[in-house]
Amino acid sequence: MARTIAIDADFDGGSIAVVGADEVSVDLSLVPDNASEHMQWFSFRAHVKPRKRAAFRITNASEATYANAWEGYRVVASEDGETWFRVPTEYDGEVLSFEHVSRGPLPHGVLHFAYFAPYPWERHVALLERADASTFARVETVGQSVDGRPMSLVVIGDEDDDDKRRVWINARQHPGETGAEWFMEGAIARLLDASDPVTQALLEKACFFLVPNMNPDGSVRGNHRTNAAGRDLNRQWDAPDEEESPEVFSVREKLQEIGCDLFLDVHADEQNPYVFAAGCEGNPGYTDRIDELEDAFMDSLVALDTDFQREYGYDRDDPGDGDLSAAANWVGEEFDCLSLTLEMPFKDNANDPDPEKGWSPDRAKHLGRTTLESVLVCADTLR
Ligand code: ZN
Repeated sequence: MARTIAIDADFDGGSIAVVGADEVSVDLSLVPDNASEHMQWFSFRAHVKPRKRAAFRITNASEATYANAWEGYRVVASEDGETWFRVPTEYDGEVLSFEHVSRGPLPHGVLHFAYFAPYPWERHVALLERADASTFARVETVGQSVDGRPMSLVVIGDEDDDDKRRVWINARQHPGETGAEWFMEGAIARLLDASDPVTQALLEKACFFLVPNMNPDGSVRGNHRTNAAGRDLNRQWDAPDEEESPEVFSVREKLQEIGCDLFLDVHADEQNPYVFAAGCEGNPGYTDRIDELEDAFMDSLVALDTDFQREYGYDRDDPGDGDLSAAANWVGEEFDCLSLTLEMPFKDNANDPDPEKGWSPDRAKHLGRTTLESVLVCADTLR
């Protein structure tokens, strides 16, 4: 007699609850962040051996924070935990249903499913180690998260040369937006490649300060939106609490110590199936100079990366209506510099869909690489 499918989410970044299971299908429910009501991220393993077909239903999908984000969304799955692809998914306004039929024997009898390709802590540590091993990069711990994990800053370039532009890139304030750390992996790999002419030219002009994971606790806990204290870190920048949002507190202090000529805050958007950026047009200190820099940067990225576009994005803020608790707005106002929130999709790029993988780690990494070329295009005009 076949056994019921066993579900396991008790691992780094795992999140799901089992409502009921039988031999071929499982009813699941999303679990909220540990200290807030936000609920969207899921990641789990299904022990299906020796079945070839397994079906799943997330029964409380309509109660998710971004319930309308399920329209046009497809779950990501993996047979080996390395290669992620999309599986047939349906949303009926209440339940998110998906299934996977294995093409052959599963290597470990296990299927992996998640909201987006996970970026595990182990991979994060390996990313930092690669940077620290480079002769022209170093990793600094600038503070600690609520749970006591290190807040790691990767510095690449000559930080002692004041003529070098200070370029900051932060990712994953919202821990479920794993695509943001895949972006960082692509950017950091390029900046560590001394043979790359773009890197050579960039490091002549700029020094990079990179925070690949702004929310380590939320990432490991399997939260979608908040840190261990239940704070949305991208709403803390005007007045971060040292106890409740030490992640922002420590990185913000370092920013003020070092200064900033360009800030990119990398995110993923649950609903919008496009890559886009948002600027600081709502900031009280917004000027024509910043407006021109935003245009130059975004237009160059349109030309360099076919995934990036300017047609679909967030509504522009009215003058003075910018939310200074958000990182990009606060940095733009504080340093009077080019400062952008960069968003990529969870779903796919509707301008160039990939039926097999949708928006994927490879495309996020590629965007990370090409974004550096836009930094180079603008580097001379940043001050
Ligand atoms: Zn976000």
